[in-house]
Amino acid sequence: MNRPDASLSLRIKEEAQRLGFQLVGISPVKRPAHEESFAEWLRKGFAGELAYMHRTEELRRDPHSVVPWAVSLVSVGMNYFTPLPRSAMSDAPRGWISRYAWGNDYHEVIRSRLELLLEAVREIGPRPLEGKAFVDSGPVLERDHAGVAGLGWIGKNTHLISPQKGSWFFLGELFLSIPLVYDQPIRDRCGNCDLCLKACPTAAFVGPYILDARRCISYLTIELKGWIPRYLRPLVGNHIFGCDICQEVCPYNIKAQPTSEPAYRPREGLYAPDLIPLLSLSQEEFRNRFHGSPIVRAKRRGFLRNVAVALGNIRSVEAVPALIGALHDEESLVRGHAAWALGQLGSKRAIAALKSGLRHEADAEVRSEIEAAINEATAGEQETSSPE
Ligand code: SF4
Repeated sequence: MNRPDASLSLRIKEEAQRLGFQLVGISPVKRPAHEESFAEWLRKGFAGELAYMHRTEELRRDPHSVVPWAVSLVSVGMNYFTPLPRSAMSDAPRGWISRYAWGNDYHEVIRSRLELLLEAVREIGPRPLEGKAFVDSGPVLERDHAGVAGLGWIGKNTHLISPQKGSWFFLGELFLSIPLVYDQPIRDRCGNCDLCLKACPTAAFVGPYILDARRCISYLTIELKGWIPRYLRPLVGNHIFGCDICQEVCPYNIKAQPTSEPAYRPREGLYAPDLIPLLSLSQEEFRNRFHGSPIVRAKRRGFLRNVAVALGNIRSVEAVPALIGALHDEESLVRGHAAWALGQLGSKRAIAALKSGLRHEADAEVRSEIEAAINEATAGEQETSSPE
């Protein structure tokens, strides 16, 4: 094997920075340090319905099974942080979309930059040279590799944290077939802090560094395709796509700098959006509005499900007409969660709409949601009298 080229390693890093990656480090291609804890996490069922995690377990544990020729791994991070606060949201019925989803879908942005990086390496590196880029859709334990490459450490909140720059970063990887000079891992700097563990609204951390995805608001509002468990709905709050809380409370994010990447600037209507109009988006309106945005991952039915839950949690009487409209949505998932939200509101009008909905509803699951909502609302009605 050729000797690693220190000046080539440096030039690759400079090129990555020139392409907009604020974090860059290089590691040898090895089995990830946390492969055993990853396997344990899967075995305990903490991945929930993330079936692709189970399907790709072996690939994730052995990068050489994905890229047999790979010798070195360039890990990169791109800042997506936009410093708009939650507190600007007032008490109007507004939802919260995770910061990473305010702009354009990062997969394409990062993949195309990594392709440019590969082209640059091909120009300045030895030949023949193989390379392959991944952006979180590939079967790669990217935080593990980024940690070994010295980009940061994996915090108790399971995010990769740079000691100087925080954790608001998208990660990507470029596997290369050449030896390079490798960086040193950074030690864990969480210390005695447990702010993220305490702040999680759904208590999704079963312990430091261990997330039960089945309780995580990001999982519930993005990855979960079906019904949000009833006992978790009140804890989801006004989150309609992702969460951010475990990153917002992290002291290493206090000095986070805003991104200068135009693709991640917030699109109109994605920062703290008004919830009520979102509940009547048609399939076509949803497609047009979120084209090229990470939000499409939730699909219309998942997104409107989340909007209904958020409105149920906010309990704004202004939302009652929109929720009654959603009782007639084409998707049973939306009808059922709208029923739950009306049950939370518990007003006379909401209860009447639920009773009427029950007469016309054919879907057994939605019927049971409506019945539960009526029971909950009428129980509340006996205790208090609602204005509407
Ligand atoms: Fe670590 Fe504290 Fe940040 Fe959690 S909030 S990741 S414990 S430093």
